Amino acid sequence: MSFKDSVTQTTKIGYFEGAIPVNYQYTFGIAGDKFFRTIMEKGDFVASKCPDCGTMAIYPLSYCEQCFAEVTEFVSVGLEGELYSFTECHYDFQGKQHVEPHIMGLIRFEGVDGGIIHRVQAGTGGLKLGMKVKAKLKPANEREGSVDDILYFEKA
Ligand SMILES: [Zn+2]
Repeated sequence: MSFKDSVTQTTKIGYFEGAIPVNYQYTFGIAGDKFFRTIMEKGDFVASKCPDCGTMAIYPLSYCEQCFAEVTEFVSVGLEGELYSFTECHYDFQGKQHVEPHIMGLIRFEGVDGGIIHRVQAGTGGLKLGMKVKAKLKPANEREGSVDDILYFEKA
């Protein structure tokens, strides 16, 4: 069967297995650049704020998901948020087992849509949904403008 033939019987479809090497890079975009640059330079988180409906979002957006207005305002939300959800991860992306399980949490900020998913340190007393957590950042002179500038979140 060539590409010119149309498929009339699904039982005649063949396939082969293979792998396609794909290398890619994402850019942060304007809003993402503002977010990571603010962490690096000021040690703070910013959310986007829609000029029309006031919706705030983190990670920041260039266009409002509620009303599609262009967003150019970014406001500080600080490093402290609420632990909205968490889970234990026992394996990395390559399937290698962690020596100690990593705890990953979704941290939300008051009045802000979305949130940040990142490592969370349980500390003494463990974790509870709704507890206040605060980001622990790398020292200012070691930050590179990436998500790894956030070391983890811990009890506030
Ligand atoms: Zn809006």
